[in-house]
Amino acid sequence: MAKKAGFCMGVRRAVDLTLDLVNRGEERIATFGPLIHNPQVLEVLRDKGVGVLKEVPETAAGTVIIRAHGVPPVKKKGLKDAGLTVKDATCPRVLKVQAIIGKHRRLGKTTVIVGDRNHAEVDGLMGYAGPDCQVVSNEAEARELVLDQSRPYIIVSQTTQDEAVLAAITGIITGRYPQGEVFDTICDSTHRRQEAVRTLCGQVEAVVVVGGKNSANTTRLAEIAQGMGRRVFLVETEEELDVAAIKAFDCVGVTAGASTPTWMINRVARALEAIPGRGDNHLAHGLYRLVRFLMVSNLYVALGGGLLALACGSLQGITPRLAHGFIALCYLFAMHNINRLTDRQAQIFDDPAYQQFSRKYRKAMMAASTLALVAGLLVIANGGWRPLSLLLVMSVFGVLYRINFIPRFLAERIKVSRLKEIPGSKTFFVALAWALVVVIIPALYDGQGLNARSYGVMVYILLMVFVRNALFDVFQVQGDRILGRETLPVLLGAKKTLGVLNAVLILLLGLLAVYPALGLIAVPAGYGLAPGLLYLAGVTWLYSRGYWSPGVRLEFGLETTFVIVALMVWAAEGMAGA
Ligand code: SF4
Repeated sequence: MAKKAGFCMGVRRAVDLTLDLVNRGEERIATFGPLIHNPQVLEVLRDKGVGVLKEVPETAAGTVIIRAHGVPPVKKKGLKDAGLTVKDATCPRVLKVQAIIGKHRRLGKTTVIVGDRNHAEVDGLMGYAGPDCQVVSNEAEARELVLDQSRPYIIVSQTTQDEAVLAAITGIITGRYPQGEVFDTICDSTHRRQEAVRTLCGQVEAVVVVGGKNSANTTRLAEIAQGMGRRVFLVETEEELDVAAIKAFDCVGVTAGASTPTWMINRVARALEAIPGRGDNHLAHGLYRLVRFLMVSNLYVALGGGLLALACGSLQGITPRLAHGFIALCYLFAMHNINRLTDRQAQIFDDPAYQQFSRKYRKAMMAASTLALVAGLLVIANGGWRPLSLLLVMSVFGVLYRINFIPRFLAERIKVSRLKEIPGSKTFFVALAWALVVVIIPALYDGQGLNARSYGVMVYILLMVFVRNALFDVFQVQGDRILGRETLPVLLGAKKTLGVLNAVLILLLGLLAVYPALGLIAVPAGYGLAPGLLYLAGVTWLYSRGYWSPGVRLEFGLETTFVIVALMVWAAEGMAGA
């Protein structure tokens, strides 16, 4: 995956603002012009009832969103005068150019804009510059430009202007009219995407460019890759991938234009992952398919949870029993599947393979999940009424998570009709359920009681699982926002969430240093948490630095955290025993 690909900051801001308004239940929302050059995103917005205003109406009601390109001030005023509530999603970098123009106009200077006069951004800038503004789009026009020799002027450019073109044009103009001042207002987003695709071309045999076919910056990325001798596949969706042609390559890169959403890039990348490459033998591909099956069926996550429950026995200093692992495995398998299968929109925006799997095996997976839940309850019934009651309560909450069970009079007051709608609930509740089933239930099993270690280990595991959940939520942040899910990254944004996760990882490291002294963890088993924690921090770092892109391999790597924790806890115990 190219280091820089997909939505730029301005486009992401505009799309997020629009979806947040939709998710808040605002009605009669429209954008002033199409929000971005991407048919799939426009379709999603259309499906959610977001209209498109082409002209300033005389009178209207509702909310209108000004897109990232901005508009002339007179149009913004016209929209307000028409009776609309205006939400301005003009990109801050475009706002900066507008501010430069406004300031110098007040000082009596003329403005020259280097850009395309038919582009919406330039139209907006011209509105700030006033009637004596001039637009220059090429060197020939620069040579013919006529300015007042006695009047100072400024040159600014459209934010997506090519650097070399801008330099050539400003050279010609300032050579003829030296009284001007040049402002470099090019946004480096485009440049960085182009540099990233050049770097990518050095590492791959072919490049898949994802984006709207009418998006200029997407087609430019395709041209750059082609110019570097790479076979290029320009696709809007994963369905357009030429599977037969792609099979001929060993290593294929992916990039995307500034108006391509991450969920579409992920769908294409996942579809690519599933295509056997030229160098893949049957064994490697079979292994991939097995991993894919373990992931989409939630068997691997349940296995990790089962092993973790056994290890948590050691961490609390109680004798681990197979029943502890079995109960956790059954509960996590059932709950992860039931929640995914009852959420029909699950993974639409991120994972076409899961969508296919759940459509095909829906009944079988529902039956297997119900069986697992019953099996878990039967086994736990042998361990006494306390763990049984806890698991029953957790199962009821797990099933109720997506169901409107809060009475209407209360739901209207608190604006929440199901647990799923509590902000950040998905990230936290899943971690809490894990901590209860892998730490507290083993502690209560067979009449054993809770002690300081139980709570200490529970907090530790809750925080580790929280990091795992939040990372998954970061992978799916755009899809979750479209679906109106209130995950932590939807609330805070992906960058801030990664910051929070780093803070939690540091906290976990600190806890590991003090837990043994406070008696909150059994040693030497507790020392086994360190490699698992470092592994989790490593996965987080690799993802946040762009070295590991979302897909089956990354998700498998992340789910392996708890397998490593369990193995290391036992290794620490084993070494001490030896
Ligand atoms: S390309 Fe740059 S200026 Fe244009 S919307 Fe994106 S971040 Fe803003």
